[in-house]
Amino acid sequence: MIPYGKQDINQEDIDAVIDVLRSDFITQGPKIPAFEKSLSDYTGAKYACAVNSGTSALHIACHALGVSKGDLVWTSPVTFVASSNCALYCGGDVDFVDIDKTTYNISVAALEEKLIKAKQENKLPKVVIPVHLCGQSCDMEAIAKLAKEYNFRVIEDASHAVGGKYQNEPIGNCRYSDITVFSFHPVKIITTAEGGMTMTNNEKLAEKLNLARSHGITRDESLMTETSHGPWYYQQIDLGFNYRLTDIQAALGIKQMKRIDEFVKIRNSLANRYDDLLKDLPIRTPLQPSYCYSARHLYVIRLKDQNNHKAIFEKMRDMGIGVNLHYIPVHLQPYYQGLGHKMGDYPVAEEYYTSAISLPLYTLLTHAQQDEVVAALKSALA
Ligand SMILES: *Cc1c(COP(=O)(O)O)cnc(C)c1O
Repeated sequence: MIPYGKQDINQEDIDAVIDVLRSDFITQGPKIPAFEKSLSDYTGAKYACAVNSGTSALHIACHALGVSKGDLVWTSPVTFVASSNCALYCGGDVDFVDIDKTTYNISVAALEEKLIKAKQENKLPKVVIPVHLCGQSCDMEAIAKLAKEYNFRVIEDASHAVGGKYQNEPIGNCRYSDITVFSFHPVKIITTAEGGMTMTNNEKLAEKLNLARSHGITRDESLMTETSHGPWYYQQIDLGFNYRLTDIQAALGIKQMKRIDEFVKIRNSLANRYDDLLKDLPIRTPLQPSYCYSARHLYVIRLKDQNNHKAIFEKMRDMGIGVNLHYIPVHLQPYYQGLGHKMGDYPVAEEYYTSAISLPLYTLLTHAQQDEVVAALKSALA
């Protein structure tokens, strides 16, 4: 089976991991700050906090922004469930904003419309979480403008998008957001097996994120309520978690960061090759707005005839092509339906779900394999 996504690990990556295993620290050692520095140097954001998953990063991001009982958090329905679960972990309530018909990202027009209505009803969100679906940035400048006008905070879920650019600047620099979150799951752009990171330019938020990663404990005397009792002393000043990444993983991440631009370049060239090979088929290939350079995490096609969606999906799987569907709209998940969300709430997202297929895309995908994917799709469509 040609999978839809897969990691790219070389000898240097393996050696770096082995070196850590032979060193004094396999966790809470020097590789963590070095990995964080590589991401803050790369993106230009001042502060980075490495954690054990993208999900944990989203959770502590909501926590740091003070999401709590009764607060509203809005996100896109076309995303992985983690983008909205993070608000529920903090006791908040989740609502969704329908997607844009062409980019599949959160629709800025729908967001504005919903904000106008929410203002009248006194139900404005505390946080909005735009998701850079497939690696393609949302229109962050427009969202930041609304954030200012309606007084909400912004977390970019850039789990798909590390290595990409928005308006010619690295995604994750937080120019238009409070916090940006990355995931380093093996199918994503770079990997630490499991892992994630928060980026921010706000010192206070950085402090809160660091505390939340490790039990709410600090050894920094300037944050303590009284002078230190001695060298053993620490204080728990918040209720945090154990979301720490290991040095073994951070060492892998540092090496992966050396190849990030190459990874994104290969993904773009494969995606462009798909565009070319698929141009005469009865499908829609992904559109790339001029304001962004996508990290190309996913290559999503839309069938023009959605009646055959399931059959084409099954035929391709039978031919050994690991097609996938990103995503089942979150509001249709039984858990979310149990919270009052229902079919019909977000029609554009629901229509997307009836016709989207993710084709295999990863750095080690060969042209021969890609040709096999295209041949299988042609045969399934015939
Ligand atoms: C992968 C992903 C996450 C969660 O990341 P993990 O590292 O798997 O916890 C969150 N949001 C989106 C959009 C993702 O694709």
